[in-house]
Amino acid sequence: MRDQISPDRSRLLVIGNGMAGMRTVEEVLKRDPARYRITVIGAEPHVNYNRILLSPVLSGEKTFEEIVINSRDWYTANGIELIAGDAAIAIDTAEKTVRTASGRTVAYDKLLLATGSNPFILPVPGKDLPGVCAFRDLSDVETMLSAAQRYSHAVVIGGGLLGLEAANGLAAQGMKVSVIHLMDTLMERQLDTAAATLLAEDLTRRGITIITGAVTEALIGADRVQAVRLKDGRQLPADLVVMAAGIRPNAALAQASGLACNRGVVVDDGLRTSDPSIYAIGECAEHNGQCVGLVAPIWDMAKVCADHLTGKTGSAYRPIQPPTRLKVTGIDMLSVGQFNGGEGCEDIVLRDGARGVYKRLVVKDDKLVGAVLYGDAKDGGWYVDLLEKAAPLGDLRDTFVFGPGLTASGSADQGLADLPDETEICGCNGVCKGTILTAIADKGLTTLEEVKTHTKAAASCGSCSSKVEGLLALALGGDYQAKTVEGMCGCTDHPHETVRLAIKERNLKSIPEVMRALDWRTPGGCASCRPALNFYLLCAWPGEYQDDSRSRFINERAHANIQKDGTFSVIPRMWGGVTTAQELRAIADVVDKYDIPSVKVTGGQRLDLLGVKKEDLPAVWADLNAAGMVSGHGYGKALRTVKTCVGSEWCRFGTQDSTGMGIKLEKMTWGSWHPHKVKLAVSGCPRNCAEATIKDFGVIAVDSGWELLIGGNGGIELRGCDFLVKVSTEAEVLEYCAAFLQLYREEARYLERTAPWVERVGLPYVKSRILDDEAGRRALAARFAYAQKFAQIDPWAERVAGVEADEFKPMLVEV
Ligand SMILES: Cc1cc2nc3c(=O)[nH]c(=O)nc-3n(C[C@H](O)[C@H](O)[C@H](O)COP(=O)(O)OP(=O)(O)OC[C@H]3O[C@@H](n4cnc5c(N)ncnc54)[C@H](O)[C@@H]3O)c2cc1C
Ligand code: SF4
Repeated sequence: MRDQISPDRSRLLVIGNGMAGMRTVEEVLKRDPARYRITVIGAEPHVNYNRILLSPVLSGEKTFEEIVINSRDWYTANGIELIAGDAAIAIDTAEKTVRTASGRTVAYDKLLLATGSNPFILPVPGKDLPGVCAFRDLSDVETMLSAAQRYSHAVVIGGGLLGLEAANGLAAQGMKVSVIHLMDTLMERQLDTAAATLLAEDLTRRGITIITGAVTEALIGADRVQAVRLKDGRQLPADLVVMAAGIRPNAALAQASGLACNRGVVVDDGLRTSDPSIYAIGECAEHNGQCVGLVAPIWDMAKVCADHLTGKTGSAYRPIQPPTRLKVTGIDMLSVGQFNGGEGCEDIVLRDGARGVYKRLVVKDDKLVGAVLYGDAKDGGWYVDLLEKAAPLGDLRDTFVFGPGLTASGSADQGLADLPDETEICGCNGVCKGTILTAIADKGLTTLEEVKTHTKAAASCGSCSSKVEGLLALALGGDYQAKTVEGMCGCTDHPHETVRLAIKERNLKSIPEVMRALDWRTPGGCASCRPALNFYLLCAWPGEYQDDSRSRFINERAHANIQKDGTFSVIPRMWGGVTTAQELRAIADVVDKYDIPSVKVTGGQRLDLLGVKKEDLPAVWADLNAAGMVSGHGYGKALRTVKTCVGSEWCRFGTQDSTGMGIKLEKMTWGSWHPHKVKLAVSGCPRNCAEATIKDFGVIAVDSGWELLIGGNGGIELRGCDFLVKVSTEAEVLEYCAAFLQLYREEARYLERTAPWVERVGLPYVKSRILDDEAGRRALAARFAYAQKFAQIDPWAERVAGVEADEFKPMLVEV
């Protein structure tokens, strides 16, 4: 494409490589791709990205790569010169040139200003201390993420959309977060008191402290911020302070070059400034006294501006009232229009306290003029459309609070079918119904993913996904098969991943809380979901969640394996397969004393005492415990054994101390609960006598270190391990092992062994998390180590001391 652009084309120079500037460039290219030689000057050192999605990057739900809008290749393919990381500092309107911070001068025929906003930094003492940042760009997110790794207390100043998204992201990164807000209720510009109260309750449940009516007086600290002092004298600990107290249009450059400015750069209906060669768009612009702070109107601006830049001068920008949504997973809200009512307005309110659902629809002169939805905003698009159409409600008024399902048109699908083609479906990317339907027909799209790729609809915050699926269903009729993900069990349609995410995101701390929050169909769950939930909660909240023994199967409740005749088998732990005369004597004594009929060496190099009577179990545990032995967890979805060979200590071929390594691994991992049983092995040389190549985590010593293997299984479906990496030190073996096990614990579905899990997610994925991401690996290993502080408690010893005497009571729900 670059070759087609001759040097004598007009030069279009864009200042600002953000959402508005680049959307205008895209629209210009759509209309007349060869019209301009385009240069973009951006202060940020990146290609352009979706700023809206910085919140999911902060909370860890997306990576930066996933929010890039246009790659470097796109700029090159379209002949666009990108000058990134070099801010424009002066415009010479007479010479038609722009100077950058690095001293470069760029000439233009048409100039587009798209410099966005600056965050408002409260002018309080301490505002310049290290550890204080805004929430505007990727560098702010990087500052926050690095603080979250090292520090624990964050204070967010501002309880608006941005502040709450920042608070949620920091809490998801493990920080203790307080939000301080000047007004009495959160998001007062979008929510009425009732909805704001529900929001505050939801955030508090997630562990975020909300302090309203709070005036910040000073930030305190010497080398770094340490606390925030409020006017009433309260002092809040703060290793990180995020200012999210508002934005100001970034119009300084325009003002300095003599363009007409008020709060923003003044533009007319064609987005032209007071200089006819210069346009301004996005948050830096002011149209009819109004500045914008959401993307929906910016997409309209971009279209009109592109029309004018390509010679269609009749089009005019008409501001719209975009709805607001909060991008916090699990919090469903929407607010639009005159949501707080006013003179001549009537309110129609639906409140379902138990479900945390609140809807307020504001009607004036028989038309919908505002809405606030909290807890269930799935019909938001329909209300926005009613509001934009401004048609009389008539009979609809009686039922429309219940959503489109009960209206005259009968169904949400019908509602969607009735919408005109120009109705916007995806607010984040400004994609309307007609564009989606045309893409489905012209390109033969059949899945949501394909629609996302081709139209960008539903590719950002995702809240319009159900509408896009509705359009697919309308277009494809019976041919459309919505992608269904299987629910955990008959009690819920939510798949495992959704439940695990909700536990973390919504701060759910008990099985009943999970069931309530996710609308479980059965009151107490079943024998499938209860053990899974118990494990997910244990994994999410180590040290905090109280293990629910009544949600475990009999083997785990009885700390022993039930056998076919109703007796139990007991396996004491033998670290790395090594035992002593004293341990063997104690085992022999127990066998005699309790008349245990059989002792067998297991495949994992432990001794199994078979045929123990149920009533003898506690006494057997007590005697073995007294001899220094602990439970071998031979019964649990847990770390079972670490099998070893004799290695360099005894074997002629051994290159490393495999037994010692096995003992270290077992001391680190014993007691850890997993989605399924987990076995480890260490062999002292590639002859592999410990069969490490069919274990969940295998280690094989070689001359120069240790080869690490994962995802092996000697069970029904034999699977040889995948090679993960070769490392040189024992410390690395331990770190990689802990990181791998933690990743498996955190991401596999309950009852999924490592072998099918590795196959499902793919070896490249596991490698990307364990090998390529060093910080991530360390963090995983650290989380494993932290959880082990609470897990390495011998259940036999606990039981002997009187804990959990109810092991033979049935599971709360039995199959
Ligand atoms: C965390 C976050 C979440 C958001 N969530 C939502 C949401 O859910 N929904 C919604 O509608 N909106 C949301 N917004 C707002 C939305 O991102 C903005 O309205 C939109 O990005 C504005 O586009 P813009 O191009 O005007 O400014 P920006 O996207 O900020 O782009 C301006 C660019 O200009 C650059 N620049 C500034 N000065 C210069 C200079 N002198 N030289 C060169 N480059 C310069 C800046 O570095 C920046 O890259 C969110 C914003 C943030 C920060
Ligand atoms: S694996 Fe190697 S070191 Fe270990 S026992 Fe077998 S031959 Fe010896």
